[in-house]
Amino acid sequence: MTRSVLAMLDVRPAYTAMMAERYDLHRLDQVADKSAFFDEMGSKITAVVTSARFGLPAEVMDRLPNLEVITSFGVGYDLIDLDACQARGIRVSITPDVLTDDVADTAIMLMHATLRQLVHGDDWARSGKWAENGPMAMTRSVRGKKLGIVGLGRIGKEIALRAAPSGVEIGYFGRSRKAVDYAFFESLIELADWADILMLSCPGGDATKGIIDAQVLSALGSNGFLINVARGSVVDEPALIAALQRKVIAGAGLDVFYNEPKIDPAFAGLDNVILYPHAASGTVETRDAMGQLVVDNLNAWDDRGELITPIV
Ligand code: NAP
Repeated sequence: MTRSVLAMLDVRPAYTAMMAERYDLHRLDQVADKSAFFDEMGSKITAVVTSARFGLPAEVMDRLPNLEVITSFGVGYDLIDLDACQARGIRVSITPDVLTDDVADTAIMLMHATLRQLVHGDDWARSGKWAENGPMAMTRSVRGKKLGIVGLGRIGKEIALRAAPSGVEIGYFGRSRKAVDYAFFESLIELADWADILMLSCPGGDATKGIIDAQVLSALGSNGFLINVARGSVVDEPALIAALQRKVIAGAGLDVFYNEPKIDPAFAGLDNVILYPHAASGTVETRDAMGQLVVDNLNAWDDRGELITPIV
């Protein structure tokens, strides 16, 4: 029998089309009366396709009594209740590895752009300020800086590999010590105190909520920079905005925010932050690879009850 699949979104048209060809695919974002839909289809749905940004709200999961599997586009799973999934025996897959390079590249891009003030420099040349006022103010060199990575996982390790040739010293903080030569710090505050650039590449969720707080920012200090490609929730955002306004830290490069896509308007008034719209994995190549992996996981489940890249 054809499996009924609920997609929370269009992961990408080509991959949604592939799934629609093989499965009885329903798009929740196109359903007007969701309650009526769940009354009719809820017990027939056995698979959900979602993304790191959409996750699976409890009120949807509760309406799917025969749900077997969730295949998610992205690696963050902070919006999927894994404990509830485990309690119900629901398996979950993500799309690791295929996005690691682009996210690490974005982290490095933000690091250089923030220290070298790429956006300000572009404006200086573009607006005529250069001709009018002479050279732009000097920026800060990446070479010789200490880079403190919070979360030395798949992405964190690739960031370290890319940063090393720029002449930075690398340290890290995480739940466990890794088999690497970089300095391990027992506490986040010690890492922030040591680092010139604090790089966030850990998961979001309850365990990391607001761990970058006023105290950590103060330890990073007035010559320090924060780069975040992890999750907005990892940072106490009002504390970050205050730290940027009062020059408690020198600057920040952010791909992720607390309230996406309606980010705090205070960011737009700051000239010491570079903003990127949660697009670290947003290349055609990577999004295609992620879409294919979502489809491959779903098909592997349908064919043989297995997932290629499970997390539970
Ligand atoms: P990963 O391989 O699981 O790495 C996560 C790392 O964070 C691990 O080293 C882990 O330590 C560490 N960690 C876990 N909990 C922690 C905690 N409470 N405090 C400090 N460190 C902690 O995952 P990944 O593939 O590198 O992805 C990392 C994160 O990047 C994702 O969860 C997601 O939030 C974010 N991300 C963002 C984008 C974007 O578009 N900006 C794209 C993809 C991913 P252990 O190894 O000791 O467990």
